[in-house]
Amino acid sequence: MTATVQTLTNWLLSFRDVVEENKQWLTELDSAIGDADHGINMARGMSAVADKLTATAPATPGELGKAVGMTLVTTVGGASGPLYGTFFLRFGVAAGTAEELDAPGLGAALRAGLDGVVARGKGEIGDKTMVDAMAPALDAYDAAVASGSSIAEAASAAAAAAAAGRDSTVPLVARKGRASYLGERSADHMDPGSASTAFLFATLAETLR
Ligand code: ADP
Ligand code: MG
Repeated sequence: MTATVQTLTNWLLSFRDVVEENKQWLTELDSAIGDADHGINMARGMSAVADKLTATAPATPGELGKAVGMTLVTTVGGASGPLYGTFFLRFGVAAGTAEELDAPGLGAALRAGLDGVVARGKGEIGDKTMVDAMAPALDAYDAAVASGSSIAEAASAAAAAAAAGRDSTVPLVARKGRASYLGERSADHMDPGSASTAFLFATLAETLR
């Protein structure tokens, strides 16, 4: 099995739904250590993404990545818009003109997205950001592919690692983003961006299953 542009569109529509269902929770997480807008930001962005993908269906995964990235950069304020926007823009560039992505191809595009987030936000593992969910997800994905797993199995491994990475942010003291202004008081709270990233990988796994 490969990831076609239709599969990837279904993934993003499913992510839109899950973000919408969890909008309040994501915003509550951000109210504890940020400015109480992460769920609102992500719901606004993914609603615009769904409108965009429905209005003009992209022809390739590369076109899809670029359309999604541009939409997020232009509709979401705050840190998460440029970061998720960069993720998808880099995903699109890495996907190139391929008609569909096989397991290594999807992994390479996702990793290009992660590299873009790191380049833009300068976040490292342990800084209590979305990188804490995204980086382990991609490592698990690549390890699964290297050991011969299917694209669906690799995505499931990524989803499990993203959820564990999200949970790992709870005890951390934030070193990036608004939460870092709180210093030690940011500990004992889950990072909202890691929670939305865990949904991103959970919906990818469900879509590919
Ligand atoms: P804002 O912080 O501008 O209000 P959001 O609330 O939408 O934006 O998103 C906050 C999330 O963005 C954080 O929970 C964190 O995961 C992520 N984030 C913030 N700064 C960075 C960074 N430098 N690198 C990676 N992720 C970051
Ligand atoms: Mg916020």
